[in-house]
Amino acid sequence: MITLDKVTKQYDNGVTGIRDVNIDIKQGEFVYIVGPSGAGKSTFIKMLYHELTPTSGDIKFNDFDFATMKRRDLPMLRREMGIVFQDFKLLPRLTVFENIAYAMQVVETPDAEIKPRVLEVLKEVGLEHKLRRFPDELSGGEQQRVSIARAIVNKPSVLIADEPTGNLDPETSDGIMDIIETINGQNTTIIMATHNRDVVNSRPHRVLEIAGGEIIRDEEKGNYGLED
Ligand code: ADP
Ligand code: ADP
Repeated sequence: MITLDKVTKQYDNGVTGIRDVNIDIKQGEFVYIVGPSGAGKSTFIKMLYHELTPTSGDIKFNDFDFATMKRRDLPMLRREMGIVFQDFKLLPRLTVFENIAYAMQVVETPDAEIKPRVLEVLKEVGLEHKLRRFPDELSGGEQQRVSIARAIVNKPSVLIADEPTGNLDPETSDGIMDIIETINGQNTTIIMATHNRDVVNSRPHRVLEIAGGEIIRDEEKGNYGLED
């Protein structure tokens, strides 16, 4: 579903983010992206959701070819990708319900479909009782659950997560990982950049290790490895 063909990203200051990356990811896979700070994980992730454009090479995602797609196709692309960040990025003036509903409104979902679907995803992440709270009234783990609910509300084919447990304690991280694995069990592809050794080693999935902008390891059911 996702193919990177000789993808290189060089920043304007000359620094190489990633170099000559070739990767194939299939529908339903769960892929960890590991590697030390500055390795290129965020660059890789941002290229996947078309936040950054490659300097050279090509990225294909389902029917989208990033090299030729038009700006007006971006909302369609984003609809097929859910994105979760380390710092949640919830809208502070909107309630839990509204944060999730907003993601459906921006892709012009008919009003009648919004409420039942928001309630459904809130149930999936175990927060149906918090729908009228504001983000700052929630714990970090709860905020991350809301951000996951928002990411999956439009039924994307892939969930992309950049350090989703980075701000959470081990027990809370475990709950978040249970939810992410459940989503993967519904055939949603998961691509997750992480520094969380315990998570990677206790829940084995494909591991891509990046160092110095290059993929140095690609293992089915790999472990975290030596890097930190
Ligand atoms: P990681 O997510 O693994 O920590 P990054 O993808 O953030 O790594 O960074 C890879 C390399 O690209 C690093 O050398 C970093 O300093 C550089 N880099 C990241 N973002 C930018 C930017 N906006 N401008 C210039 N260099 C950048
Ligand atoms: P109750 O008092 O029965 O708990 P509420 O008054 O909280 O119900 O909400 C009625 C319905 O409106 C609920 O199903 C709830 O999910 C939904 N709802 C809550 N907040 C919003 C909102 N900001 N926008 C749209 N619907 C909402």
